[in-house]
Amino acid sequence: MRIILLGSPGAGKGTLAAEIERKYPVAHISTGDIFRENVKNNTPLGLEARAFLDSGRLVPDDIVIAMMEDRLREPDCEKGFILDGFPRTVPQAEALEKILEELDLKLDGVVLLDVDEETVVRRLSGRRVCRNCGAIYNLFFRPSSKGDLCEKCGGEVYQREDDREEVVRSRLKVFYEQTAPLIDFYGEKHTLSRLAADRSGRHHSLLEDLERAVGISE
Ligand code: ADP
Ligand code: ZN
Repeated sequence: MRIILLGSPGAGKGTLAAEIERKYPVAHISTGDIFRENVKNNTPLGLEARAFLDSGRLVPDDIVIAMMEDRLREPDCEKGFILDGFPRTVPQAEALEKILEELDLKLDGVVLLDVDEETVVRRLSGRRVCRNCGAIYNLFFRPSSKGDLCEKCGGEVYQREDDREEVVRSRLKVFYEQTAPLIDFYGEKHTLSRLAADRSGRHHSLLEDLERAVGISE
């Protein structure tokens, strides 16, 4: 299974990708997670990326593309992968086509998660993350029963710098300007499936919708 998840910040790409990874043997590749891990460990890549992440701007294409060239060649990608947060610009999408061609791989689908902007702002500005185990909570929808501490491990629960409301607004602007053009890009080249990703009033889980959209099952 080789899938791209597209969608604005806060559309729920990471949550859905984690669900897929629990059920199917695939590598979940989140460029945001890779950058945050590098920032945390002060690697050269992290030092380059940090200012972009904190301000909600995109890391420059050449840095992202070089990183993904290496990542997609790792052995765990042979079982399949879900791309969460990549590509995010047209040049990144063009570079990905080239990498896949070199590796002789085809995509099974491109899935767009559709959520309205106000929901996204509440999801992101309310999001809190455990510093220790990465568990995700939300002040509005799913607070930790232990307040500022993680239910699972007791670690400190904090707000990502880029989840502050003003940064959220600029991340959304970046999405509409630089990433939304990929909807047309993939609409022409591949089958693009659009999933309504608002939780309320859903009859099926998002995972079931995705399985139907890309024609996979256990
Ligand atoms: P979200 O999708 O919620 O905005 P991510 O965790 O995917 O958050 O990304 C966080 C940040 O990492 C982005 O705001 C950007 O600075 C950087 N980033 C992640 N993926 C890319 C990418 N493909 N191209 C450029 N920057 C990226
Ligand atoms: Zn935790």
